[in-house]
Amino acid sequence: MQCPERTRRLDHFERTARAYAEAIGGLRDLQGYELIAQERLVNHIREACDAAAAALAEHQQSHGCARAGVAQNLENKVA
Ligand SMILES: [Zn+2]
Repeated sequence: MQCPERTRRLDHFERTARAYAEAIGGLRDLQGYELIAQERLVNHIREACDAAAAALAEHQQSHGCARAGVAQNLENKVA
């Protein structure tokens, strides 16, 4: 069984990564002040994406739920 907290953090990371890619795509046809505003948005979303990746890694490391066999061991302890 998948760890629900890992799934939640992975979903969040995936959403921020998609938003980051979309914001980068928005840089294509802009210039001047609009480009500066979009670049700020890209940087803001990149920070959120970095934070989401770190939160996922931190949970996986502390909980050990991403390593093969560990989830099975945890289930056996609960059972
Ligand atoms: Zn976990």
